[in-house]
Amino acid sequence: MVAPCEGPSAARDVRAVKPRSLPKTVAPLPDELLSGWLSRLAAANYCDDTELLAHIEIYTTHGTALDFSIDAATAEKIANAARVAPDVLQALVFPAMTPREASLTAQMPFQHCLQCSRKGLSLRHWRRAWAFDCRVCGTRLVQTLGKTGDEQIPDKLIYRARRGAGMLECAARSRSPKQLRRAMRAVTFAMSLKGCHGGPLFALQSHKPEVRLFCLAAIDAAQSRPLIKAAISSSGIDDYAKVALLRAFGKEPRLLAAVDQIAQRRARSKGPMTAESRN
Ligand SMILES: [Zn+2]
Repeated sequence: MVAPCEGPSAARDVRAVKPRSLPKTVAPLPDELLSGWLSRLAAANYCDDTELLAHIEIYTTHGTALDFSIDAATAEKIANAARVAPDVLQALVFPAMTPREASLTAQMPFQHCLQCSRKGLSLRHWRRAWAFDCRVCGTRLVQTLGKTGDEQIPDKLIYRARRGAGMLECAARSRSPKQLRRAMRAVTFAMSLKGCHGGPLFALQSHKPEVRLFCLAAIDAAQSRPLIKAAISSSGIDDYAKVALLRAFGKEPRLLAAVDQIAQRRARSKGPMTAESRN
């Protein structure tokens, strides 16, 4: 790190409350996250994030810890060092969210836009579970960790997942919890088919693109036709799918009964069910 303000006057000001200003500052961009802006600020001053925070006398390991709330004292320290107004920093933090929005907003980065990341950007909307395409350049977001085997992902899955992501956003913003419950039921079902463990919110932030995309596509499938019907007709029903059903619909006996009826009707009309592909 090039020690930003090392000099005789800085040495004399050791006991000063105000952290020393950085030689260079950067202007925040629309939708930029505080942690992303801090990284750009660090790069402009030839140091890394940890060195920057230590210099400003902020004792947190990661800038990401500041993305959800920043106290006035911390905002002032950073603002003084970067020579910007403290209000500017408050605007880089996530605004107050409903519990539903918060549950679908990742604490840590899980996806990004390759194009904008190359420019050092880290944007707020990328953290939303429903974000699919970069709102700055339109590029499809990809997982931050893990491999990028995009070429193997069928276009149809991407198309459906994009639609599912749009529905998830509506559900997150809706006043009624019904839409989100429906979406989460679809995700739970999709997870069971993929053999994923954990909660649906975790799967939507999965570092495996095939898991996240499949779960988002399931939200779309659940909207256009009853999910269970789709599941029975597209994959047949085996013990594994039955377990998945119980997990997804276990708390809704009415739906489970409907599922049973569909299965029995099909069994009567077609004999033992066989897997068939209708997609
Ligand atoms: Zn972008």
